[in-house]
Amino acid sequence: MVVCGAVIVAFTLCFEQGVIPVSQPIDMAKAMTKWSSTEILPPAAYDRPYRGKISITIANSEKELREKCELTTPKIIACAWVDYKGTCTIVRRDDKHLEAMAMPIAWVLRHETAHCNGWGKDHTGMRKPNKGDL
Ligand SMILES: [Zn+2]
Repeated sequence: MVVCGAVIVAFTLCFEQGVIPVSQPIDMAKAMTKWSSTEILPPAAYDRPYRGKISITIANSEKELREKCELTTPKIIACAWVDYKGTCTIVRRDDKHLEAMAMPIAWVLRHETAHCNGWGKDHTGMRKPNKGDL
């Protein structure tokens, strides 16, 4: 089943149910160098595709992201929630911003999708990326 999620300004992502295709010209070796000692990724129990519709919105500024996420937490790069219809909405910073951070979009989406799968905001079990995550 193909699921389409409306995304900002005239482009739409379509993907197999809960599986988000990602192509990002990021240097993964650089990502590992920068992030290998930081807990970013969800525990295995939640690190799987979401079994429902996913809508992804790209925020082009931190201000826009904070407004859409209704958060004041510093240094956020994405957020996610599931609405009453079961749609998982992910709002994340734009590719350019994530690339400047050497942050793989795939990791951001895995983190946020895990929240849609029920992973708590307390991030219990959050883990560091390893070579198997590249
Ligand atoms: Zn989180």
